[in-house]
Amino acid sequence: MSSSVKLEVLIPRSLCQIECAENLIVDDEGLASFFISWEKGIVSELKPLNTEDKKPKKILFPRFVETHSHLDKSFTWKEFPNFKSNYEEALSVNLEEHITRTTKKVLDRAERSLNLALKNGYRAIRSHIDTYEAQENDIWTELFNLQKKYSPNLKLQFVALAPLEFWDSSNGEKLAKKLSVHEGILGGVVVPPFNKKEIKCLLSRMLLLADKYRLEVDLHIDESTSEPGAGIKVLLETIERLNIKVPITCSHLSNILSLRDNEIINLGRKITEKDIKVIALPLTNFWLLNRNDKSTSLNRPVAPIKQLQKSLVDVSIGSDNVQDPWFSFGNYDPFYLMTCAMPMLQLSPWERLTLSSLFLAPSRLLKLSWDGLIKKGCPADFVIVDAEKWADIFSSNLTKKVFINGELYC
Ligand SMILES: [Zn+2]
Repeated sequence: MSSSVKLEVLIPRSLCQIECAENLIVDDEGLASFFISWEKGIVSELKPLNTEDKKPKKILFPRFVETHSHLDKSFTWKEFPNFKSNYEEALSVNLEEHITRTTKKVLDRAERSLNLALKNGYRAIRSHIDTYEAQENDIWTELFNLQKKYSPNLKLQFVALAPLEFWDSSNGEKLAKKLSVHEGILGGVVVPPFNKKEIKCLLSRMLLLADKYRLEVDLHIDESTSEPGAGIKVLLETIERLNIKVPITCSHLSNILSLRDNEIINLGRKITEKDIKVIALPLTNFWLLNRNDKSTSLNRPVAPIKQLQKSLVDVSIGSDNVQDPWFSFGNYDPFYLMTCAMPMLQLSPWERLTLSSLFLAPSRLLKLSWDGLIKKGCPADFVIVDAEKWADIFSSNLTKKVFINGELYC
């Protein structure tokens, strides 16, 4: 039986919607006092709390959405460490890991990650899965079984992350067909330096394959310190030439940061025009790129979120790798991501656009049935933390409760 719950909570003002907001008390940090109740997994009441002297001591968030992860290699750091902590070494160690990879190992890593993610408050995850010719055949069948197994509590979306050449092979086409049945996505890497002519040709074939099977594309693009915007420019030219409408996500888009602001804004306009979504991944970018053991530099390429948002690009912030050769830390914890990303990128939690990139844009990116806005009639899918200000979230040991379909999960 579903329980009925009544609570007094704070909710970030930009994450909720009510008809009558006249009596709503919103503090200086954008936290609004509410009375909320839910029944049978659905919010039945959401109304302003009018007790000025009695501020709630809990903050309620919608459950989180992770837009970019790598479940298949999480927690491999111990076996496959990367003490140089740069991009080149990460790639080289990653390829070593492939040699010992089995379907069972991938599933174990994925289950461990998903269980943590659920406990930490995620409701949906998009994960890239390394895809290559020598892979065990049953891996995708097993991954789709996993997707089904977790589906009552968590929506799992897979991106087959393959060399672009793979999408031009018969195995590539076979997999594309399989992915189309399970809302899968075609993935690849477009990182300079590269041969422009060759990349254009491979990208075209990949996009045409995606179009044929009505699939989305998610690219690791411009995750580099060199040739700012080389990848996105080739991509835009290719889409223009093919004149097709394939939904595209650009993960990373880091090196465009070193373009001039007006160039970023112009590029952003073109990205918006083509309805391309962007995922900023500050943790791996700050860790891997432009690393110099002898000098400390603040020069870290990361997607310029504010300029892109100014050009109306839908930008999400994601975590990327967890305890693997690409990133040594992390725990599928959205609060860890927020705690790191906000000061790194000078994003304030009381700004609407900051919370949009963490909650609403990710829900749109994964095309979830709930956009993450808390209102009457929305699902009671919440993370409630013992806190009354943002500092409590970022500075202390957080006590939290996760509700899934109105029921206490943990
Ligand atoms: Zn990634």
